[in-house]
Amino acid sequence: MKGIKKDNSEALFETAKTYFPGGVNSPVRAFKSVGGGPLFMKKGDGCMIWDEDGNEFIDFCCSWGPLILGHNNPKVYENVVSALGNGASFGAPTVLENELASLILSKNPFIEKIRFVSSGTEAVMSALRLARGYTGKTKVLKFEGCYHGHVDSMLVKAGSGLATFGTSSSAGVPEEYANETLVLPLNNIEALRICIRENKDVLACAIIEPIPANNGLLLQDKSFLTELRELCTENNILLFFDEVISGFRVGFNGAAGYLGIAPDIITYGKIIGGGLPVGAYGARAEIMAHVSPDGPVYQAGTLSGNPVAMAAGIAVLTECAKPGFYENQKEKTETFVNRINAHAKNKGYNFEMITVGSIFWLSFDGKKRIQRADQIDGNMDGFKNLFLELLDRGVYIGPSGYEVGFISAAHTPEKLDTAARAFCEALDSIF
Ligand SMILES: *Cc1c(COP(=O)(O)O)cnc(C)c1O
Repeated sequence: MKGIKKDNSEALFETAKTYFPGGVNSPVRAFKSVGGGPLFMKKGDGCMIWDEDGNEFIDFCCSWGPLILGHNNPKVYENVVSALGNGASFGAPTVLENELASLILSKNPFIEKIRFVSSGTEAVMSALRLARGYTGKTKVLKFEGCYHGHVDSMLVKAGSGLATFGTSSSAGVPEEYANETLVLPLNNIEALRICIRENKDVLACAIIEPIPANNGLLLQDKSFLTELRELCTENNILLFFDEVISGFRVGFNGAAGYLGIAPDIITYGKIIGGGLPVGAYGARAEIMAHVSPDGPVYQAGTLSGNPVAMAAGIAVLTECAKPGFYENQKEKTETFVNRINAHAKNKGYNFEMITVGSIFWLSFDGKKRIQRADQIDGNMDGFKNLFLELLDRGVYIGPSGYEVGFISAAHTPEKLDTAARAFCEALDSIF
């Protein structure tokens, strides 16, 4: 590893540290797990990004998922600028909210009404309140290894032993809140059956990332998700798919459409705002009727449905809705991943890229299908070394081995070819 030029980024980070905790406004950006400080980004165009030192990278972080069309997409740009010219925000309805809602709901068989908010966390927080308000029950079932934003009751990990009551995983979350959440391992039907049998009368909902992609890519057996659906239906528990990553990523109807499993509540974020802050939650009309001002579950937002953000979402989802969009994304991603995997296999490296749709994850565990959080090897040295070798070769991936990578519509076959070569070389130098 020779190391890239970082003088300007380092100086900016020193200043940032005087302003922000850890120098950042979201912790994973701090490069803690790969060492050194973060690269300060200056510009993005298509699948390329440039940092403040003039380094150029092919970007596989894509803002952690929202940029399914890549950076500076001309249609997104045009829509955003045009909306901005008409005023940034009114605190009153605009036609753009109707347009984005219609784009989503007209194709989505799982939800009939939607409410826009401003982040994935806010969507989850609001939808959990709705689940409780609708069912009149208070506890929530979550699965270890799924991330649902920094909602108090979701910052919870499994308790010790057989206890399913969670313990808080962040300071500042009272144990009383954590105790409202039950935590189970993913992909374990037996544990699920027992937990639901014992807690059906208190469980408002079961929340899951149907394609868990925040802690490795933990592809679940369909039988597990089907069983979860059935158990929820039988016991009057709402099935809550958190599709903040998978929504509009593995298909226009997200993981629900991809897997053919109908949830009761869905949350969106990331892609739905095309790089601007948007989240959303949706459900059947009968459930959504409980949200204020129709119903008693209060939820509001000064900037909810913001016209500039809606304009970005409309531009992105219009492209995603075109025939062949997702097939093309998947095909490109598979070609890229297969090539790197073939190289690793050929050389006998303990490395495998796991993929679904246009998402990939770098597994150093040598197991093709890791399905539970506790199966991930916590030693991230391999990831760290690969990350640095990739930077040297003009490839930027998210600076954490637990996070997934994304391929956008702007990743051309030529750039993917270049990137695949960089991955193979980087693997050669770390193994
Ligand atoms: C990113 C993410 C969130 C949180 O969204 P923010 O916009 O970061 O608040 C919630 N759930 C899932 C599944 C996510 O991937």
